[in-house]
Amino acid sequence: MNLFDLNGKVVLITGSGGGIGLEIGLGLAKSGAHVLLNGRNKEKLESALQKFETQALQASIQPFDVTKPEEISKAVESIIDQYGKIDVLINNAGIQRRHPLTEFPDAEWDEVLNINLKGAFLVAKKTVPFMIKNGGGKIINICSLQSELGRPTIAPYAAAKGGLKMLTRAMTVEWASHNIQVNAIGPGYFITEMTRKLADDPEFDQWIKSRTPANRWGMPEELVGTAVYLASAASDYVNGQIIYVDGGILASM
Ligand code: NAP
Repeated sequence: MNLFDLNGKVVLITGSGGGIGLEIGLGLAKSGAHVLLNGRNKEKLESALQKFETQALQASIQPFDVTKPEEISKAVESIIDQYGKIDVLINNAGIQRRHPLTEFPDAEWDEVLNINLKGAFLVAKKTVPFMIKNGGGKIINICSLQSELGRPTIAPYAAAKGGLKMLTRAMTVEWASHNIQVNAIGPGYFITEMTRKLADDPEFDQWIKSRTPANRWGMPEELVGTAVYLASAASDYVNGQIIYVDGGILASM
């Protein structure tokens, strides 16, 4: 038996029209999964889907907003009608907003918390009853170094990602007895749309490299191995863990 085999598995990844979610999706599809790509922008999802089709990988698109319960319900019901199940849910959708804390607009605080934290709750809430009916499942929450560490100007992001770490544990204690393994991946600094400006800033780029024992940024495809592990039978007795994939940042002062 190949412990990492995902053939026949249906995987929903929120926010997977680009960046980390898309690369994880491609990696899981290469291990045999059918990947459901999600985001708010249908055109972006259609262009992501082409990357699967050109490699003969299985995927389809499910546009919805993770902050809108009615959209989530409709999408989850249509997935169940079409595919019969959701084996793996990856709560990856996320945004970043930057302001000094005393000047942080209330509306942007709410936006970050709603997408990065409440969205994971809302999508899991609609998905888990079907996982329970199906005898189990896997949830992978995409956390961050800000689940552990603060940085100036991104307080709501840190509050949301710290909350997502604890939501991972709270989901574990409620759902592990239903054979649902809930775990998280905490990426370090990876080059995507979210971090493009930082990567293009020579000062920040130099600072990140000097702060990272591996001395470089991560590439999104370097998260695939951990995602396959947490999505597969290889992790069937792994519950409530946050695995940091960060080139060693959290290990250093
Ligand atoms: P990204 O390229 O900006 O991707 C984020 C995705 O989330 C977008 O495709 C966006 O698509 C989607 N999204 C945003 N709001 C949404 C909503 N309300 N409903 C559904 N989808 C929504 O960023 P990324 O770097 O790949 O980030 C992915 C995840 O990794 C995030 O949770 C982020 O916090 C986390 N992370 C990233 C890094 C890094 O270094 N890049 C490090 C640690 C953690 P639409 O706009 O089309 O909806």
